[in-house]
Parts: sequence; C-alpha cells; structure tokens
Amino acid sequence: MQGLMMDRPLLISSLLQHAEVTHPHSEIVSRRCEGDIHRYTMKDAAARARKVANLLQRLNINDGDRIATLAWNNYRHFELYYGVSGYGAVLHTINPRLFAEQLVYIVNHAEDRYIFVDLTFVPLLEAILPHIGNVEGFIILCDEDKMPETKLPNAQCYETLLAAESDEFEWPEFDERKGASMCYTSGTTGNPKGVLYSHRSTCLHALSSVGEEVMGLSSSSCFLPVVPMFHVNAWGTPYSACITGAKQVFPGPGMDGASLWELIEAEKPDLLLGVPTVWLMLLNHMDSIGKKLESVKNVIIGGAAAPLQMIKDFDQKHDAFVVHAWGMTEMSPIGTINAYNGIMAALPEEERYQLQRKQGRPVFGVEIKICDDDGNELPRDGKTFGRLLVRGPWIVNGYYNNDDTSSFENGWFDTGDVATIDENSYMNIVDRSKDVIKSGGEWISSIDLENAAVGHPQLAECCVIGARHPKWDERPILLAVKNPEAEVDEASVLSYLEDKIAKWWMPDAVIFVESLPHTATGKLLKVDLRKDYENYLIDHGKA
Ligand code: ADP
Repeated sequence: MQGLMMDRPLLISSLLQHAEVTHPHSEIVSRRCEGDIHRYTMKDAAARARKVANLLQRLNINDGDRIATLAWNNYRHFELYYGVSGYGAVLHTINPRLFAEQLVYIVNHAEDRYIFVDLTFVPLLEAILPHIGNVEGFIILCDEDKMPETKLPNAQCYETLLAAESDEFEWPEFDERKGASMCYTSGTTGNPKGVLYSHRSTCLHALSSVGEEVMGLSSSSCFLPVVPMFHVNAWGTPYSACITGAKQVFPGPGMDGASLWELIEAEKPDLLLGVPTVWLMLLNHMDSIGKKLESVKNVIIGGAAAPLQMIKDFDQKHDAFVVHAWGMTEMSPIGTINAYNGIMAALPEEERYQLQRKQGRPVFGVEIKICDDDGNELPRDGKTFGRLLVRGPWIVNGYYNNDDTSSFENGWFDTGDVATIDENSYMNIVDRSKDVIKSGGEWISSIDLENAAVGHPQLAECCVIGARHPKWDERPILLAVKNPEAEVDEASVLSYLEDKIAKWWMPDAVIFVESLPHTATGKLLKVDLRKDYENYLIDHGKA
C-alpha cells in the first residue's frame, strides 16, 4: 500500500523561497575582494537570485547547461548558487587552487558556457584563455567602475547586467533528481573527476546537517564558513543557512589570521568551519595579540585530521569546542561528525580529547562499514583497520561523463580511506588505502607514523611510504625534512620513536630530503615518491 502524502519535489529554489518568507531579515555579511564589507538580508539575496535567473534566460541558457563560478565566499556567489541551480542549469564551482592544466581540463570537460569570476581570478582565466575557447562569455563579479582591463573576450560586468533585469521570476518545478551543481575532485592521480549533485541530494544533505548534533544551526546562530564555496559547496552551508535563517559571515579572500579575527570581532559568529591549516593561522594570530575568541562556541574542522594540540588550544585558550568532521567531495561532503554529546560529557578531559580526535559518527542518511580486501565486513571494535565504504542519498553513484567504476562496489562507494569503527560507530581515519603499509599481512598507518615522527623537535615534515621487502612484502620507510640548520641523524629519529609506536611499525630506513611534494590542496603527494623509493630497501642492502 502506498502512503497518501504529497510528492513535492525537493528543489534548491524551495530552500530560498522558504528563507525569503521565513527569515527575510537574516543577515549576510561579506568581505568583498574590492576590500570593503558588504551587508544585506536574505530578502535582498532572493530578489537578486531571481535577477540572475532572468539574466540566464536572456543569455539563452538551457536546462542542464553548465554555468561556472570562480569566486570566493561572498554574497554574489551565494546569489549564483540559487539563481543558477534554481533556474535549472548546473552550477559548476571551480577550485582556483587546481593547477592550470587541471583548470583547463575541467572547464572543457564540464563544457561550461559562461564563467562568473571574481576580480582576483581574472588573471588566472587570462592565463589559460587559449585553451578554453568554447566558453561563450565571462561575467566579472564587480561594479561597473571596478571593471578591469582584460583580455577575456565578451567580458561583462555582473552588476550592470543585474541592474537591467527584473527581480520577478517564477522558479520552475522539475524532477528533484536533476543535476543542480558540480564539483571536481582535486585528483591525486589522473584527471579530476566530476561529482554532480542533484537537487534532492543537496536538500537532504542540508536537512540532515542542520541537526543539533551535526552543525547545530538555528535562526539565532551566526556562522563563518572559511571552507570555500568553490570546494564542495562550503560543506553545504549556503543551503543549511536557508533552512535555519542563521546569519552568514563570508570572509571573501581574507583567510589569514588577522583578517579572520577582524571579522570575528565585528560580527561575533558562534560557529566557524574550515580545514586545519586556516585555524593554525588564526590561533597563531590570537596568541600574538593575546586575545580570546569570545563569541565562538564551536569550530567544525574537516578536510584533514584535526591535530590534538589544535583541539586543546581551542578548548583551553578560547573555550571553543572542536567538532571534528569527515567527508569528501563525493559525499556532498558530510559523512561523520563528532559533536559534543552525553558520551563526551561523561569523560575525563584527556579521554574526551582522545575521542575528539576521531572523525565522529555517521549522520542519519549515511551508512558506513569497514571491509578487508575481499569485501568481507570487519568488526566494529575500534581496533581493526579496514577499507571504509559508504552509501546514502547524497553519495556519488558515478562520475560525470567518466566510466571509471573502480570505486563502486555492490551499491557502496569505496572512500579510499582506511578506518576503524567502534561499538558506538565512532569512526577513526587511520590512512588512505593506497598509503597504508601492508607488512606481513598486517596494516601500518603511514599517517600515525608521520604524526609520531614529526613530533621530533628537529624535523619540519615527515612522509612515510611502503618500500618493497622480500620477506614482509612492504616495510615503512620515513622521508624527513629537517628544520633549517638542524643536526639530526637516523639513529636519533628511531630512538625518538621507540616509546611512541609498536616495535614492528619502526621504519626500516630514515632518509633526509630537501622537500616533499604536495597536491594542489596541500596534501602530501606520495605517488611519485612510492615509485622513486620502491626498491630502496633492496638496493641499499636493508632487506
Ligand atoms: P580533495 O583531496 O579533493 O580536497 P576531498 O576534499 O574530497 O578531496 O578530501 C576527502 C579526503 O580528505 C577524505 O577521503 C579523507 O582522506 C580526507 N579527510 C577529510 N576529512 C578528514 C578528517 N577529518 N580527518 C582525516 N582525513 C580527512
């Protein structure tokens, strides 16, 4: 028997329509790349999003056409999120941190018709212009008097175009499974892959993420997303904001500690969201001026593991709770989150910090499990390592125009992460599956080893990879960058590690290098290192 309930589509325009009538006065504050602070309300944003839709109609944009943005977190980007997807086109947010050849690849692969671009990124597009000839036009996100001299053909001013449009537009209704926005992975191997979010997946993700033990947003919250709108939709927060009416504070290009503090002091957000690197800059800045982040209650940290010291610093110096979260582009991105709850409240401080280091529990809508190499599910004992698989209504089911199905396994998506899961479903990332070292059938976490080694006072950065070994298949070797003018040798590093790791995890060699390679998003790039050092132990008589 079927239920007797209405089948209304979950559309991105419905989020904005809800916000406009329910939270018309909720504030949106932005630092613009022109340098000043801009503020307006949800009602203003909704009217301008309708102008964007009228503009797309004037430009003869069809249903499903890709419209790209190359922009910071700001109100104009917010309007495009709704104007483009609400119209029925697909918003392609481009990550300016990708390498030039990756940018060329994704603009062509997505077949972007127009690119809306912040002033800062105009030179980036000019540099690749000869290779993106199919783009019909470039719309520069500024006022007429700020329009730059540019080589971009058919470059027009956003504000001038919007001024000419009506703010009346009837949002179309269509199948909620249609594509709404897309984001390419940064791709540590091969070309970036396109993840195409649907209206339905985006709305469900937003509904789930506002919950108290997820992001905990409400009409009285104020949040500052440092996580960029150009990478996985700022963790979906521009959508969650419309459900709750929370005040949004957009940092624009100002991601350094001083600029962030200036905004925090003025706008008083209670929630910050971003990757560990930006918080390191903010914490250092706060130390240098000797001030406390008075308004901040929670800091959601994801994208990379939140270091223990950072969790403690936010707590002890700023009374702010670190909510560790994990996800990926393919997951819209939220998978697990580690919010404050009864389990934590019952723990002594040090144990609570240890629990906070874990990446948290799955939100409703996401199922997780760990498996061995043959696909057998492994126990949830908090100790056993396994490949982490996920499924749910906002998890990728295939890449855009790409027949690579290697990550899809019987209705589950293989995240490429290696993790443990405990009896309360707390998940802990221990490594990437291509980086974990398989020594005699047991798995060694390269990340745990790196974290242990980098605590050595003379080392600046560490990278652990597996090298071939005739008896154990693979053994860990440690590549280390010394601090400037440091005097340190292999024996000192190994003896430092002695009481910090299991004996059989001890690296079989320590090799000092000048520098280590990184991806566009700052993660260690181990692919080439693995090739270069594959036979190191055999060639050096250490196997
Ligand atoms: P990109 O590498 O393109 O930035 P994503 O943003 O999708 O890709 O990164 C997803 C990956 O980042 C995850 O699979 C995981 O390896 C890592 N990651 C994300 N959050 C965390 C976290 N809290 N702790 C450890 N690793 C994380």
